[in-house]
Amino acid sequence: MQEKRKTALVCGAGGFIGSHLVKRLKSEGYWVRGVDLKRPEFSPTHADEFFVADLRDQATVKLVIGEGVDEIYQLAADMGGAGYIFTGEHDVDVLQNSATINLNVAETNRRAKQMAKIFYSSSACMYPAYNQEDPGNPKCSEASAYPAEPDSEYGWEKLFSERLYLAYQRNIGMQVRIARFHNIFGPEGTWQGGREKAPAALCRKIASAKDGGKIEIWGDGLQTRSFLHVDECVEGIRRLMKSDFSGPVNLGSEEMISINDYAKMIMKIAGKKLDIVNIPGPVGVRGRTSDNRLIQEKLGWSPSESLEKGTRATYGWISDQVHSAAANAR
Ligand code: NAD
Repeated sequence: MQEKRKTALVCGAGGFIGSHLVKRLKSEGYWVRGVDLKRPEFSPTHADEFFVADLRDQATVKLVIGEGVDEIYQLAADMGGAGYIFTGEHDVDVLQNSATINLNVAETNRRAKQMAKIFYSSSACMYPAYNQEDPGNPKCSEASAYPAEPDSEYGWEKLFSERLYLAYQRNIGMQVRIARFHNIFGPEGTWQGGREKAPAALCRKIASAKDGGKIEIWGDGLQTRSFLHVDECVEGIRRLMKSDFSGPVNLGSEEMISINDYAKMIMKIAGKKLDIVNIPGPVGVRGRTSDNRLIQEKLGWSPSESLEKGTRATYGWISDQVHSAAANAR
């Protein structure tokens, strides 16, 4: 007998990771419904059906979940890079919008005829700030989450929503999978406008600068991070969904680098020599990197490529965007 085609709903399918995930699910033979406030910015969606709609609205969530799907991937969130999250100006939006989406999705899934297995995208921003003060030795093991003290409302909302989905799992029997993403980057991600993250911002600044010129970097640039290519992230999501392990589990890279050194790596890729000017700006914790012991143990997963390799492809894509935007403006 032929196996029934699996159905998936991707919330946030117009966003960076969501649009890559839709492509992956399609390549695996899924029937995919996407929903987002906007369509993907840089290429047409691969979803079979796409709703431009607001997941804060309960009626919308009822409509997109319908009688139920096999799997829901909940990636929709009000988010951005340090310039969006750490200034404090968007705290009400971040808390209210993202929590409302998660409350709606969890409860509507519970009430659907067929309750889906659900993936929730949490973030390393939920880890306590007090464990991330040493740039050379941050602590981000899953068990170090409590006592909680995230350094942003974005992190608090992620922690709340993790707990929300886990409560639905305990009390209702909903099948839940949770990954804590650590700085995902890659082609077709936001690269300008205020919501872009460090890798895209650095690539844009370096692509825009003339050789021998300078670029500005927020903070002293000694803060450390690790970055994971979006293809690796999507692979991790799929492995987690196929496994019996619920998480929460880190999904990131352990290749930690300071922001100044990362800028130098990108300069090398670009073939440019630029001076770094460190200026005051929102930076977040001093050090953060993934701790992959648990994901390795449970899923046998770790990143397959170096930061430099992933960054090379991303720089190429952002450099093309910068130059075509400049050509269009002329
Ligand atoms: P993104 O901003 O590109 O995607 C999120 C999408 O959600 C956007 O397209 C946005 O329009 C959509 N959205 C927001 N509010 C909505 C609403 N009310 N109704 C419908 N859609 C709405 O971000 P991303 O980088 O693709 O991140 C995906 C998820 O992963 C998010 O939950 C984010 O918090 C999480 N995450 C990302 C990273 C990262 O480095 N990119 C790190 C940690 C966690």
